[in-house]
Amino acid sequence: MRHPTGYEFLGQPATGAGGGWNMSPDLFARCAHCGEMLSLDPNEMASCSCGGLCKDADAGRFGSRHGDASVAIYRKHS
Ligand SMILES: [Zn+2]
Repeated sequence: MRHPTGYEFLGQPATGAGGGWNMSPDLFARCAHCGEMLSLDPNEMASCSCGGLCKDADAGRFGSRHGDASVAIYRKHS
């Protein structure tokens, strides 16, 4: 997988709900299907272009319809 510039690749969520990643404004989840970066800012409700990635800010978690293997977590370089 080619990683976007300006971001540090942290890994992929472990199988299971949430994967243990905390919601944080400097964290991004990348959808392997559409390649869109989705902010994990807990104050923003969002989903990616293809609708595969979705975030439930109220529940403090996110996931992909395509499975955890299609999600990559990044931290934005400051
Ligand atoms: Zn997508």
